[in-house]
Formats: sequence, structure tokens, C-alpha cells
Amino acid sequence: MSALDARERSALLRRLADERFDLLVVGGGITGAGIARDAALRGLTVALLEAEDFAAGTSNRSTKLIHGGLRYLAMGDFRLVREAALERKAVHAMAPHLAEPRWMVLPVRSRMEALKYWVGVTVYERLGDVAPEDVHGRWDEATLAREEPLLDRKRFPSACVYREYLTDDARLVLATLRAAAGAGAAVASRMRVEGFLFARERICGARARCGLTDEIIEVRARHVVNAAGPWAERVASMEAATEGASRLHLSKGVHIVLPRAVLPIENLLFLPMPDSRFIFAIPRGEVVYLGTTDTTYVGERHLWPEVEATDVDYLLEPVSRCFRADRPSPDDVVAAWAGLRPLIAQTGKAAKEMSRKDEIWIGRGGMLTIAGGKLTGFRHMAEDVLSTLERASGERLPPPPGPTTLPGGDFEGGISELVAGLPGVGNLGEACAARLARLYGSEARGVLERGAEPLVPGGVVLSGEVDWAIKEEAAQTLEDFVYRRTRAAWYAPAEREDMLAPAAERMAVMLGWDDAERARQLAAARERLRDEFAFRA
Ligand code: FAD
Repeated sequence: MSALDARERSALLRRLADERFDLLVVGGGITGAGIARDAALRGLTVALLEAEDFAAGTSNRSTKLIHGGLRYLAMGDFRLVREAALERKAVHAMAPHLAEPRWMVLPVRSRMEALKYWVGVTVYERLGDVAPEDVHGRWDEATLAREEPLLDRKRFPSACVYREYLTDDARLVLATLRAAAGAGAAVASRMRVEGFLFARERICGARARCGLTDEIIEVRARHVVNAAGPWAERVASMEAATEGASRLHLSKGVHIVLPRAVLPIENLLFLPMPDSRFIFAIPRGEVVYLGTTDTTYVGERHLWPEVEATDVDYLLEPVSRCFRADRPSPDDVVAAWAGLRPLIAQTGKAAKEMSRKDEIWIGRGGMLTIAGGKLTGFRHMAEDVLSTLERASGERLPPPPGPTTLPGGDFEGGISELVAGLPGVGNLGEACAARLARLYGSEARGVLERGAEPLVPGGVVLSGEVDWAIKEEAAQTLEDFVYRRTRAAWYAPAEREDMLAPAAERMAVMLGWDDAERARQLAAARERLRDEFAFRA
């Protein structure tokens, strides 16, 4: 039995109620997942409670890069850039399928610009200790014509090309949580923390409500860490009434998805915008996504912030300016997502100028809260939290585990070698096999063993993925499956509607849904998919 089998929920809830843990983590995004993994691998007993699905928040809405952030160099954040740039290799070593080295193409308009980029990228590579074979290069007009023919070479006669690492944020969270659970952590989705428990004014646990049964459970622990991302201050206010100004500044980031046929690019691209920002264009399977915006967000912290028509217009604008292509219309957009960055507030700065550093603070009852940071830095953030905990409690903990392999990460070579070794790769087709390798790494073989026929005739999502998502990755709803397990909602939009009914049918058998529940799951997933296009109205 796997440690994250959705069918073992009642045993998991019993364990949460019965055991007294060393550490309770609130929030199952990348920050909470990283802390749970680190603590569990050090030998601590750990519980993690996530209000929604794992990676339901910001950790599913990123640009999906493991990167140092070239643009943060311009902001003078050398320490942050160095740490994140070095971390690329560490994450690659843990899970090569979730940190795939790819060329990032930075189009160049003039000699002056070429010089500026050359200096920036050289510093970036020095900070990141980049291997000689990965050092940046210059693509001249002839090379661009071959490697990225769609780019407008009249406007951009050359490009600076450097290495970045492409990940899948939600699947990185899942792999990290599975590593935590594999080391003994009790990891539960759909358990919303509604209040905390105290003994002599010290925090000693939390009261959480199960989102599936409404049951309330008290989870006891010696230490509590709040890693609730954009909701961190709300969770912190349950421990002690908050005073003074907010520490967090929320910034909304939007991505839109176009069919690859509309924008047939080959590499990752970093495109200059008229307001001096840059956005990424990232090809992934049959789609390309463009993002991101970076605008201050105020108001209710919705799980799904709205994608607005102005966001879509902003992200479509560079297509006709940078490529030999017509400007797509909003109707060409096949998926879209918005996320909230929980940035550490800096007075007088706009969201796009604020540092992406993280901060840890300790509440009156002793709860540690961590917010800010980046997906890329999750290991260091976990180490920082646990060393703060050591200092605050006076306890000595075993040393951090370092970059141990994540589930699916135990293979040599790159994605193409992994694809070549998959059984029946000829029948699967190149696109389907590559998708499986990127999502599941070496475990793609295990997924195939559970069912290699597509859910939709001619599609890329396979029946075995339903079994895998439920038994190995705790998928509880159809939305979990379509959005954060198979990623079909954004990477395979051509089949996302049609796969709902066959997926729901299989899930119903495995999770014991009756007809009414199956219909409810279908309606909820369809509504979520439809809501992505609210901007068209
Ligand atoms: P979240 O992922 O939001 O996790 C917090 C979790 O806490 C949520 O799942 C929420 O449901 C849960 N929660 C809230 N309240 C409760 C409660 N009461 N009880 C239990 N659980 C609760 N970083 C990179 O490194 N590379 C990138 O390319 C990149 N691109 C980005 C692009 C955009 C548009 C954005 C918005 C961010 C990007 N980032 C990137 C930053 C990165 O995504 C975030 O730093 C990171 O995902 C934050 O993770 P988190 O775990 O702190 O928050």
C-alpha cells in the first residue's frame, strides 16, 4: 500500500487524531511540502494539513521554471539569485524529469542590448556555477532561422541563449510530499485548519475540518509551522490577533495557453515587453503558455483569482511584435490561470520591483510562519525553517537530508533516454511517451502497467493514470485528476472536456462514488474549466 492512497483516508484521519507529532505543517504547497520532507527525513514525526488539494494554491500557478531569475540580478538581489541558480542543479539531481535543462532564448535588438545581456548572463552563470557545456551562446541570424524560425529576425537579428530548467510545479509538490510520506509523515489534503490548540499559552496543535466529511479532528504536535502562502497571515491571525500593517503584498500573475499550432516555437523564450518587463513563452507538448503579469492584488484571497481581459490582451500583444505571426484573438486562448505571489511587502515599491526573498516570523504562541520565496528555493526555505525552530526551541535536530532523490527521479540521462526505454513506446507515440516521462519520470513504467489505453480515443492521457492518481497520489476529486495529477487541463486542452466522463467513471468505481456524486464531480470540474474563460465575457 502506498503512503498516499486516497482510499486509506479514514486510517490517515485516525492516525492524525491519535498520534502526537513532533511537527505539524499547515499548507501543502511547495513550501509546506519541502518542510515536511526535510523534517521527516531527519527522523521527526510530521503531520501536514492542506485545506484543498495539494498544490491547489500558488504552487500550481507558476511559470514552472527552476531558475535563479535573471531579472532579479537587475534588482541587485545577488544572494537570492546565487542561491536559486545553484539550486537548479540540486533539484535536477533529485528529479531530472522535474528540472529539465532547456535553452532559454533572449532575442536581441541591438549591439548595446547584446552587450547588456552578455554581462548579465555571464554574472548569472558565475553565480550559478554553470558547467562549461551549459555556458550561454549567441545565435546569429542563420542559427535563428534554423532553431527558432518563427521569431521576427528583422526585429531581432540575433539572440542570447542560456540554460534554464523547466519543471512542473504541482508535480514537484506531489513528488516532495510523497518523499515526506515515504519517510513516515502523515500527509492529508482537504483538512482545513480552523483554529489552534494551546497549552499554557504555547501552541500545541490545530483543529481541522475534513473537506469531504465535515468531520473535525484535533491534531497535536510539539511545534507548528504555518506555510499557507497567500493565506499565511490569515492562518497566523488564528494563533494571535494580528497588529499593525500587513507583512505580505500580494501580486497576481496570469498565464494564458495557446495551441502550439498558433505559436509553433521550439525553445523557451524570454520576450521584452513595451513596459520594460519580460514575459516567458514556454512550449509544452501540444501547447505554448505565455506569462506572466505582475500586478498588485487587493481584496478577497480567492483560490482561483480571476483572469481579466486586460491580462489576456497584455500577454497576446508580443505575439505579432516578436514573431512572424498574426496577433491571436482571445478566442484562440485554450486555457488560462492566475496565481497570487505572497511577496514580502517593501514600502514604496511596485509588485514587479519587490524582492522574491522569504521571511520567517514567530507568533506569540510559538508558531513559525514562513512566506515569500520561490518554488526553486524550497529546500533552503525548509532548512531555514528548521534551523529557526532549533534556535527558538533550544532542541538539536539531525542535519538536513540534502538533495535526495524524489519519487520518479531515479534514472540516468535525459527525457529522451527515458522515453526510449518505455515499454511499447512505438504504440504510444512520441508525444504521449514524452508527456508521461515528464510527468512521472521513472515511474511512467508503473503508470503504463496500470493501463496504457487512452481515456479518449487518440488522446494522450491514459487510463492507468486514474489508478495511479488515486492509489499513489491521493487524488480525491475529478478536478484533482484533471488539474494537478495529469495536468490535462492546461497541457492537453484538446481532450480535457472529453476525458472527464471516462475518468469520472473509473474514479467512481475506485472511490465508491454513487451516481449523484459522480454527476456532482462532473459538474464541478466542467464549471472550473468554464470559469477559466470568464475574461471572454
Ligand atoms: P501555496 O502554493 O499557495 O501553498 C499554500 C497552501 O496553504 C495552499 O495550498 C492553501 O490551500 C493552503 N492553506 C491555506 N489556508 C489553509 C488552512 N487554513 N489550512 C490548511 N491549509 C491551508 N517560482 C519559481 O521558482 N519559478 C517560477 O517560474 C515561478 N513563477 C511564478 C509565477 C507566478 C505567476 C506566481 C504567482 C509565482 C511564481 N513563482 C515561481 C513563485 C512560486 O510559485 C511561489 O513562491 C510558491 O509556489 C509559493 O508556495 P507556497 O507553498 O508558499 O504557497
